[in-house]
Amino acid sequence: MNNTTPRRIVILGGGFGGVFTAKRLQARASGDVQIELISRNNFFVFQPLLSEVAGGSIQPADSVSPLRAFLPGVTVRVAEIRKVDFAAKTVHVTAGRGDEITTVPYDQLVIALGQVVDLSRTPGLSERAFIMKDVMDAFRIRNHVLQCLEGADGEADPVRKARLLTVVAVGGGFTGVETIGEVQDLIHNSLKYYRNIRPEEIRIVLIQHDARIMPELPEHLAVYAADKLRRRGIEILLKTGVDSATMTGVVTDAGDTIEAGTIIAAIGNAPSPLTRSLAVPSERGKIVVDRCLRVQGLDDVWALGDNARIPLGDPSDPDVAYAPPLAQFAVREAKVLAENVLAHVKGEAPKPFEYRSLGTMASLGGRSGVADILGVKFTGFFAWAAWRSFYLSLLPSFRTKIRVAMDWTLDLIISRSIAEIRPPQAASRYIQFLPGDLVVEPDVDPGGLYVVISGAFDSEIPAASGDGGTNGIARAWTGRHLWPAAQWREWS
Ligand SMILES: Cc1cc2nc3c(=O)[nH]c(=O)nc-3n(C[C@H](O)[C@H](O)[C@H](O)COP(=O)(O)OP(=O)(O)OC[C@H]3O[C@@H](n4cnc5c(N)ncnc54)[C@H](O)[C@@H]3O)c2cc1C
Repeated sequence: MNNTTPRRIVILGGGFGGVFTAKRLQARASGDVQIELISRNNFFVFQPLLSEVAGGSIQPADSVSPLRAFLPGVTVRVAEIRKVDFAAKTVHVTAGRGDEITTVPYDQLVIALGQVVDLSRTPGLSERAFIMKDVMDAFRIRNHVLQCLEGADGEADPVRKARLLTVVAVGGGFTGVETIGEVQDLIHNSLKYYRNIRPEEIRIVLIQHDARIMPELPEHLAVYAADKLRRRGIEILLKTGVDSATMTGVVTDAGDTIEAGTIIAAIGNAPSPLTRSLAVPSERGKIVVDRCLRVQGLDDVWALGDNARIPLGDPSDPDVAYAPPLAQFAVREAKVLAENVLAHVKGEAPKPFEYRSLGTMASLGGRSGVADILGVKFTGFFAWAAWRSFYLSLLPSFRTKIRVAMDWTLDLIISRSIAEIRPPQAASRYIQFLPGDLVVEPDVDPGGLYVVISGAFDSEIPAASGDGGTNGIARAWTGRHLWPAAQWREWS
């Protein structure tokens, strides 16, 4: 290694893969290695706890950890990653409201961008359904469910009331099952405050394409889970798909319509447009890496987590298994990847990634769960307690552990809050500009459409339609974007 030039390791993505790689590098790298992590948010989301945020047993802010606090030795850049130029060894990012590109150079690049949710194959689903990917998604579900209870409590029309009190979850994997279990807990814990809603008026439906829920679990645990959910009143429709979603509900592939006020889509994981745009070998939308997690054909580029196709054996073996998109795998991959990057920088040989899952666990809500740990299978309260203890131990910082432990302890002794916190609708607002103030900068997202209420403005940007004038609508064509929405008012 060159002793005078620091090596720049740039990590793309602040999720499980990126953060745990950065943590390992931070602990192991010497002073001549600079580590920079680029991510959209300044916090790390602990996704396995999102269902608990949706159910209201964990506060949203407690399920995330600020990156700067967790990674003090790492340069954190909060930005949107737009492009990677592998030939020039640079990453192009934009930050804030601007479209201005900043170029970040790297010596070693780690790609950990995860996946996105794509519901476009089912008409109407992306418009109607809530997804579960981020902390705000989970918080939105919680608030929407409470909003439906508020509406139903004062609703005289029985059809509208029944619709408001119906929740449909599409997808019976871990995310769908854990979310629906928690949402049911939230509803039943809240009912004492809603005098006009009887428990039997609540309808919760889980729709699963496969012949059983949670195909990731051994069959008898999945059967136990389904039985437990059914006994708690959750309807499970197996071998059923959703053909479309409408304003009032979902239409199944059997042609049945289920009217529902809340639709949760726990399906549709797909590679992000950015991952798809990268000039790297890919299979099934994932970046192809070798056993040492190095991107095929690129010496200084590595990938892990949900965006990587990681062989768990000889990739030339047609029966080789690939790492599943799970946090427990991403955390283990991160350790191996960090060691391999450092070994590579020192001119040493990298090591292959080898990991066998220690087991799986799921929470079913109602203080019940299922677990298969090292082949020992158990169910009920102990499985649920093991689930909570395991995820508490995995949480990234002591501060987060304490907060989540407090939330869970309080949840055992006091009822959950039914405060429905809705962000205000994006209403138009008046803004005052003084003569000479800059309203819109070239190549910067102006944040909406500006309507001049009084006064006038000069435009140096070529106008495509309309012009700046009192009470006029100004649309500025910046060469790349046409921006609609919002208002401005000028006093001159
Ligand atoms: C609701 C839910 C529950 C889950 N439960 C479990 C569980 O119980 N057990 C388990 O093992 N796994 C679970 N998983 C799966 C687990 O969370 C994922 O496998 C894990 O998060 C993958 O890590 P990652 O780093 O690959 O991706 P992510 O954690 O998704 O991180 C990707 C990061 O990249 C950032 N990013 C992406 N694109 C850009 C861009 N263009 N610019 C800037 N930043 C960008 C994102 O903001 C994010 O920070 C769950 C997932 C979900 C959604």
